[in-house]
Amino acid sequence: MSRDRQMIGDCPKCGGHDLACAYNHFESDELTIDSWEHKCPGCGFRETTAFRSDDEDAKPEDVDPHICPYCARSRS
Ligand SMILES: [Zn+2]
Ligand SMILES: [Zn+2]
Repeated sequence: MSRDRQMIGDCPKCGGHDLACAYNHFESDELTIDSWEHKCPGCGFRETTAFRSDDEDAKPEDVDPHICPYCARSRS
């Protein structure tokens, strides 16, 4: 499990400057999960997306789980 978190700027809800973008990676024998979270400590705004390797819903080819779907930064 690795964790990668960056302060990325302004909150779209309250305008605070502490919005954080966090990336998590989980990997086991059968399963890989890449997840992204945007969170504001000021107002509690939060949005998350997880990409699972066992997801039956075929994900579009052009979606890269290593790029944040919200701010488009790459994992570091
Ligand atoms: Zn906020
Ligand atoms: Zn982000």
